[in-house]
Parts: sequence; structure tokens; C-alpha cells
Amino acid sequence: MRVVETVAELRRALAPDGGVRSAGVGGAGDGAGPVGLVPTMGYLHEGHVSLVRKARQECDVVVVSVFVNPTQFGPGEDFASYPRDIARDFEILRGEGVDLTLAPPHDGFYPPDADTFVTPGAVAEPLEGAHRPGHFRGVATVVTMLLNAVRPDRAYFGEKDWQQLQVVRRLVRDLLLPVEIVPLPIVREPDGLALSSRNVRLPGDARARALCLPRALEAARSAYAGGERSRKALERVMADVLEAEPDVRVDYAVVVEPETLRPPRRASASSRALVAARVGGVRLIDNAALGS
Ligand code: AMP
Repeated sequence: MRVVETVAELRRALAPDGGVRSAGVGGAGDGAGPVGLVPTMGYLHEGHVSLVRKARQECDVVVVSVFVNPTQFGPGEDFASYPRDIARDFEILRGEGVDLTLAPPHDGFYPPDADTFVTPGAVAEPLEGAHRPGHFRGVATVVTMLLNAVRPDRAYFGEKDWQQLQVVRRLVRDLLLPVEIVPLPIVREPDGLALSSRNVRLPGDARARALCLPRALEAARSAYAGGERSRKALERVMADVLEAEPDVRVDYAVVVEPETLRPPRRASASSRALVAARVGGVRLIDNAALGS
């Protein structure tokens, strides 16, 4: 696995004579096959690994980026305390047969005088967008930069960040970016907690209390399976589960249309239940389809 820190090195490595394409390390690459990109903020877990494995199956060249993107964190958010362990990340990525990893230093990806940003529209406004102003502008900007730097044929994103996935899909569609966005399902712990780099920061008994997020989603799913179609009633079911847990501060527990993130008139199988809550001071998100 080649590790580069700058876009200049990345472009050299990906050039036809740069060694990465022609070597096809870890794959059967003959230099002409698809390139896959997996953007991450590091502190990798099995959720990230599922994206990398899918990319490894489908692409001749697999590029992973590891970058805690400062522009998607608001003031007072956990940018400084976001978990980091780059040596361990490299070990995992090597083990997965990744060809090239872009790991810019913390202030090393944006030009120092960067003055252009990508601002997504209505899909980025509610939920995470409302609770984290500017978050999706940071996401859309860094994803656009990564796509332009790597120019992958496919880019892999987890459904764990459901709204982010919809923002990225719209970005790619609206700006005609020549890449296929490949979504992958949420990877969970055996007890149901969605894997997240932030889980390590859950103090003591907060880990157990965090299970109220997947439990709330399951409660909405079973109410739906039992015939409940009222959005409000399904949202109440989730709020009841979350509010029953001590030291959990709910940001939202909603049922929305899967692509637009707007409230549906009546819930359907494809409606998405999304929850965000602070547990022991750590902000967690999770989501699920109501049906199937
Ligand atoms: P992050 O490092 O948190 O920015 O995540 C990088 C990518 O991994 C995003 O596309 C996430 O949606 C995805 N991801 C994070 N956690 C999970 C998970 N538990 N299951 C599947 N994908 C995930």
C-alpha cells in the first residue's frame, strides 16, 4: 500500500506510469480497470472495512482517504477530541489490500487561502443540517475535492450517515460529477449498536445506554409492521424509548422520505426512521427503513 499526504503525490501515484494503476496491487488490475474511492475520517472499524472490501471486490484500484475534515465540524463540536490512530488505520488498510491511502496532515488538504465552498440545498437543511449548521457544506466541499483529486469511477458511502448519503447523491447528480455512488448497509455490533468511531468515547455505562438508539428504531419498525402508518405516532414511539433512558438528550427522532428527508404524509415501507441523541456527552446517530 502506498501512502501519500498531498494531492500532488496522489496524482503522480495515480498517473498511468505512477505505479499504482499498472501494478494493480492487491487486485487483477491491468491499468484500465475501475478506480474506487472510500472517504473516511479514520479510526477505522468494521463499518469502514465493509466499504473497503466492497471497493476491493469491484475495483482494480482502491483508494482510501483518511482525513478528519475540519470544515464539517462546527465551533464547540468534537474536532479536537475526534478519535485518531493513523498507524492502526494503515495496518487495517494494508490488511485489506488497499492500493493507495491519502492521509493529509490535519491542515494539509485545503489550500491555505481556500475561499470556495460547495453548498448543498434543501436535502441538507433539516436534521443534521439544522443541528450542525455548516456541516453539510463542509462535507460537500471535501467530497467534491476528494472526487476531483482521485477521479474515481465509484465512491463508497455507508447508510449509517443516511442524510450525508442523500446530500452526496444530490451533489453528484446536480453537478454532473462523473462517479457512481455506491451505498452500503450499516454494520452493527452484535447487540445492535451501529459501529462508529465515536463509540470509544462513550464513558462507562453510556455504552449500554446507547442501545436506546437501535431500540427506538426497532420499536418504530415493529409499530409499522403492526399496521401503524401515522408519522407522528411512529415518531412518538421512538421518542418514548429514547426519553425513558437517563442522561440521553434527543436531537431528533423522525420518520422521513428516504431521498428528500421531508416528512411523508403517511409512512411507507421505504420511509426512513432517523435518530440523533447525545449519550453521556457523545453525539450518536442511527437510522433504519421502516419496512422490510
Ligand atoms: P466516517 O469516518 O465516520 O466519516 O465514515 C466514513 C464512511 O464510513 C461513511 O461513508 C460512513 O457512512 C461509513 N460508515 C461509518 N460507520 C459505518 C457503519 N457502522 N456501517 C457502515 N458504514 C459506516
